[in-house]
Amino acid sequence: MEAEDRPKSAHGLTCRRPAPSLDCEAARAVVEAYFAAAQERFEDYERRNLGASTLSRVQLMCAPWRELHEQEGFTERNFAATSEDGLLVVAAPELAQLPPDTVEAIMAHELGHALDFLHPARYVLVRDELLLYPNPVDDDREVDRARLNRMRQWINRDSDVVEATADEIAAVVMGREIRYAGPCYLQSFETGTRRPAGLR
Ligand SMILES: [Zn+2]
Repeated sequence: MEAEDRPKSAHGLTCRRPAPSLDCEAARAVVEAYFAAAQERFEDYERRNLGASTLSRVQLMCAPWRELHEQEGFTERNFAATSEDGLLVVAAPELAQLPPDTVEAIMAHELGHALDFLHPARYVLVRDELLLYPNPVDDDREVDRARLNRMRQWINRDSDVVEATADEIAAVVMGREIRYAGPCYLQSFETGTRRPAGLR
């Protein structure tokens, strides 16, 4: 067994690598419904709060977990990811085997990333509070300077902050807090704790 194949342990339980079952076509029928439902909520929120409708351009793509593991470094607890431009959510068909609450929370988390990435430096997490900065309307130099600083900090955020920001955005949009539960610390709306630091 190679080091990377060794299951990780949390709370004495083992997070095992997902067993492949459905192919992408079959899984899509399940996963797409969750994606579409979350996307609708996010689109509505974006229209009302950011005066934009970029979320409708986000697309769902499917690729086998094994492939995502080899090419994108997916771990035992990764079933979906969002591209850095926020326009693509890739999901493994193995996602369709997870409990509905988990799939719903994972989709909300990914679209939280999408909204954050589609509106650079608009969302800032200060301690645990999510701030939404308004879009600057005039070319005030002070405002510009502040925005540049914020952009620099936004780009250099560490992954824990990026992940926590996605969760906080998802909580605001969905009206429910995202938690992490089970041996793999997967997203859940119903049980678990806040995202542990260092979780990847
Ligand atoms: Zn994430």
